[in-house]
Amino acid sequence: MKKIRILILLMTAIIILSTNVMAAQGVIRNGRTLVPVRGVFEELGFSVNWDGAVGKASLSDGNHNVSIIKGQNYIKVDGKQIYPDVPQQIINNGLYLPVKAIADAIGADTSWNAEKKLVHISYNGKDSYISCIVETAPIASNKTQNTTQKQAQTSSNTVQNSKAITYILNTNTRKIHIPSCTSVGEIYPEHRQEYCGTLDDAIAQGYSPCGRCLR
Ligand SMILES: [Zn+2]
Repeated sequence: MKKIRILILLMTAIIILSTNVMAAQGVIRNGRTLVPVRGVFEELGFSVNWDGAVGKASLSDGNHNVSIIKGQNYIKVDGKQIYPDVPQQIINNGLYLPVKAIADAIGADTSWNAEKKLVHISYNGKDSYISCIVETAPIASNKTQNTTQKQAQTSSNTVQNSKAITYILNTNTRKIHIPSCTSVGEIYPEHRQEYCGTLDDAIAQGYSPCGRCLR
């Protein structure tokens, strides 16, 4: 009997600990911040209903109605279809969406603490903080998969202006970096974009080479 009681206590502790961690955990894949739909929307004051029969999550707070159907590349916000640049993903049995798609959908503000790898979403006087782990696995998008493969092939240090290789763009500062540049880790995920092409073309598009990695 005593053993069983200890076992139950232990399991309860594990469940409480793991659900706390799960609720606040995001994933950064290829420069996109993916956050758990359920945890985030609940913290922002939405009611979350999951219809298992059709695989549909319905989220509502009185101002916005969001529905996400399993396997679809769009989400529905107030009756309109929105296509996130990265589709929904199932991670550890949970539904994840890019934070930018969620923020744009309901008009929330986001900020990024690079040092703590923490996303802060504020909406309607409510806050959600999501700590993120950086993942390097390829993402389920054809475009990014191709560039990741190209990146692996051309990971040598020879950088030629006319050679098409993968660079990292900061769409905010309009700087071009090589993927291994130390500045890349400091770029806010939503400003970070993989670019496969020549340096000259990127410059022609208004970007300037980083002073640290592309001198
Ligand atoms: Zn750089």
